[in-house]
Amino acid sequence: MSESTAHGSTHYAFETLEDGVSFGRARPQGTGLSNTGVIDLGGATVVFDTSLTLHSAREIRAASVALTGRPPSFAVNSHRHLDHLLGNQVFADRPIYATRRTIERVLQLRAEMEQELTPAKLDAEIRELEERQRAQSTDGGRAEYDEPLRFHRMLRTEAAEIRLTPPSDGFDGELRLPGDLDASLLTYGGGHSESDALLWLPKSRILFAGDLLVADNHPNLASGDLPTWLEILDRIDELHPERIGTGHGPLGTPETIEVARDYLTAVREAARESKDVEIPARFRSWAMAESFEQNVASVRERMKTPPG
Ligand SMILES: [Zn+2]
Repeated sequence: MSESTAHGSTHYAFETLEDGVSFGRARPQGTGLSNTGVIDLGGATVVFDTSLTLHSAREIRAASVALTGRPPSFAVNSHRHLDHLLGNQVFADRPIYATRRTIERVLQLRAEMEQELTPAKLDAEIRELEERQRAQSTDGGRAEYDEPLRFHRMLRTEAAEIRLTPPSDGFDGELRLPGDLDASLLTYGGGHSESDALLWLPKSRILFAGDLLVADNHPNLASGDLPTWLEILDRIDELHPERIGTGHGPLGTPETIEVARDYLTAVREAARESKDVEIPARFRSWAMAESFEQNVASVRERMKTPPG
């Protein structure tokens, strides 16, 4: 493993997977929150996911120059969650691709998302997180609030400058990217969110998966659809990726797909049972253990709502 810490040092650790293909893992002490990818397609560079904050997004932009010799030619948002697209502002001079459905949702939710980013709202959330942290009885419990507090405090310092920048260019199905890597953007619908995009490099069998695949973290089902997510995992399996740029956590392997399937299946089983939720032992070492229960609650809620 060659880890290049020179390019990105506060928010990201970039690991070069192949010539020109780098996976940026969000550092626990940074404010990028989600992982990113910087890919030299040959004549053009793409950034896959633009991170949560302006500081971290600027670091990605600088890493693009350091790693590929040019600023990004365009960026991609894997889905609409803020930790994957709030950095768009830093790439707004270039096209920013996302699925058409993702763009539609960002435009629908824009006012709501902007409301989350006002100084008053951020101050209130910081106060609430501080109170909840103080109420914890263990060091471990308190430590779980360090990260969310750091993100909120950074967003608060950037609040006056932040302009929510929706992705500019939509695609459906598959979009072939320029260059000799045969790279494509793919979407199989919405599993983790209403619409999720992937970046696939068939020659090197590298997949950038956004939050459809995370490692050592609970997948998040708050705005997704569990049955579709499981179907998407089958389609990802058919690609036979060897290395997976996860949305959160370390670089993934084919086993990451198995773990995701196991997790989603466990959530589905727990949601179908009416008794209290107990997190299976194999997921207990991941941070934010209460996520399992929240995921089960989200799935139960969706089971009650007739589709339509
Ligand atoms: Zn997400």
